[in-house]
Amino acid sequence: MTNFTKIKKVSPPGAGAQECGENVCIVRGRETACQGKGVSPGIVIGRAYVYDNLLTAVPQYRIAAEAVEGECERFLKAVRETSRQFDLLWEQAKGVLEDDPVSYLFDVYRHMLNGSRLLRGVRERIKNDLINAEAAVQTEINLIADAFTAMDDAYIASRLEDVRGVGRRLIRNLMGDAQENFSQLPENAVILARDLSAADTALLDPKKVAAFATMTGSPQSHTGLLARSLGIPAVVAAPNLLTSARTGDIVIIDGAYGKIIICPSQEEVDRYRKYRADFLRWKRSLKRLRRLPSVTSDGVYVSLKGNIDLPTEVEILVQTGVDGIGLLRSEYMFMNRNDLPSEDEQFEILKEMTGRMEGKPVTFRTFDVGGDKCPTFLNTSSTPNPALGVRGIRYALRFPELLATQFAAVLRVAAYADVRVLLPMVCSVEEVVSAREIFNRVADRLRAAGTPIGERVPLGVMIEIPSAALNASVLARHCDFMSIGTNDLIQYALAVDRTDAAVSSLFNPLHPAVLKLIKMTADAAREANIPLCVCGEMAANVRYAPVLLGLGVRELSMPAANVAMVKERIRSLRMSDMENYANGLLSLPSSTDVINRVNGFEAENR
Ligand code: PEP
Ligand code: MG
Repeated sequence: MTNFTKIKKVSPPGAGAQECGENVCIVRGRETACQGKGVSPGIVIGRAYVYDNLLTAVPQYRIAAEAVEGECERFLKAVRETSRQFDLLWEQAKGVLEDDPVSYLFDVYRHMLNGSRLLRGVRERIKNDLINAEAAVQTEINLIADAFTAMDDAYIASRLEDVRGVGRRLIRNLMGDAQENFSQLPENAVILARDLSAADTALLDPKKVAAFATMTGSPQSHTGLLARSLGIPAVVAAPNLLTSARTGDIVIIDGAYGKIIICPSQEEVDRYRKYRADFLRWKRSLKRLRRLPSVTSDGVYVSLKGNIDLPTEVEILVQTGVDGIGLLRSEYMFMNRNDLPSEDEQFEILKEMTGRMEGKPVTFRTFDVGGDKCPTFLNTSSTPNPALGVRGIRYALRFPELLATQFAAVLRVAAYADVRVLLPMVCSVEEVVSAREIFNRVADRLRAAGTPIGERVPLGVMIEIPSAALNASVLARHCDFMSIGTNDLIQYALAVDRTDAAVSSLFNPLHPAVLKLIKMTADAAREANIPLCVCGEMAANVRYAPVLLGLGVRELSMPAANVAMVKERIRSLRMSDMENYANGLLSLPSSTDVINRVNGFEAENR
């Protein structure tokens, strides 16, 4: 079997398969192969750019005695800038209860930036050790953290992340533009990193970054999702990645199979050139599907929409011929910046984006911050278990002004375009009721001010927590549409952290409990007569399309790269057969039984 056939059978296509422009120079005898987990398919032969953020992110150097005063002044400037940023954040985040932990956090930050041990310690270190300010901050933060840890007190330990958070922000402000933003990469670079956060990934320019691989991470993390959205072939969880790689080495990345070959032999390069050509040929063959309707062979229409993480993706999405945007993850648009986006700014971005969608509907999800998505301007990481902490709608309801700003921007855009609002991480009816109250209040305020708004903007609920799926029939009475976020639904139903490589093999979309939760939600939507979409990664996988259709789903939203392939699959299916197929799966007792049945079905029907 050729590699091409394997890709077609089991993996969605990526956007990229590229190669170094220059002649590939093979260093004999240094070839090293690493195995990780493929998260975004595509084959790349490029030049390594090693980014060891643990070791090199903070510059360390000695300074001359005469430079001490200037260095202390540079440090104080960063302290002032950091305080200014916190004040700004606090101004915009007011409305929180007095005793709210988030408001308390701001007090802690202010204290740390105001004559605390941290400030004194850094200045003394610059003077006595003659080192640069970034290194001095790093050293002091480590010392404070060690002292906290030694106290062996749970409360003090929980403040550790606050200390580190302030330290990180200080260092970032000290480094200014010098911080790594991957803007100086050579063409066709392959980033090999210890770790890339979702925010790092959002910064990557697909025109320059041909692929990336990391030592840590898991396929379900937002880093993986972003790679797929950007069409950048990527591999995560390759523990030996940085052992032998050097910047400038030739490297092969196979984003479908998780393979990385550093300094490949000529034979390997030739082999992967062939795979890449096959892959590209197959991708081109999918283009013809753009103009064909997404209907099953017995005439049932299945609406296909796109997931958008960054505004730049809209251009590619429009070319796939989708029915609209089913999930616009608004948090990514504002990930790498130091302040909160204003209502006008969000209005402009959204208006521009909806304009490019040729009148098709756009589903705007309000900020889903928390978990593994932490915009720079919000400190959401200082919680013991981010996935179970203040995330999504919880965060939004603690910062009602932030939510109101987003609602206002959407309501204003709705005067010109078909936009809907989607609330993430809903767990209970009360959250929807509270959000709707804010929504109505914002609409009243805009109307009273004579601002043009859309009069019938649908408000939707994401079903991504098991309690929401179990209670979907009640939630359905309080919202205008629902959207199943399978990434989180699986994470929470199976208690599998989607960012933890150690448990990623347990992340199973075909677990009987997951299928039941989807079925319950689909039944609830049908009974309430409201639209239902699936916008998690399950919707993007051709293996799961027959299952989802059979469970009653008629709308799927996915990254642009997967649309053609899913459409091709839908056109080959008979809806009446899918219902029987899904009912059969629901009757099976274990994951193994379901997986075996699905494997059998795929073998017979593909
Ligand atoms: C999901 O959870 O499936 C989803 C679509 O939301 P996100 O991946 O952004 O958490
Ligand atoms: Mg989610």
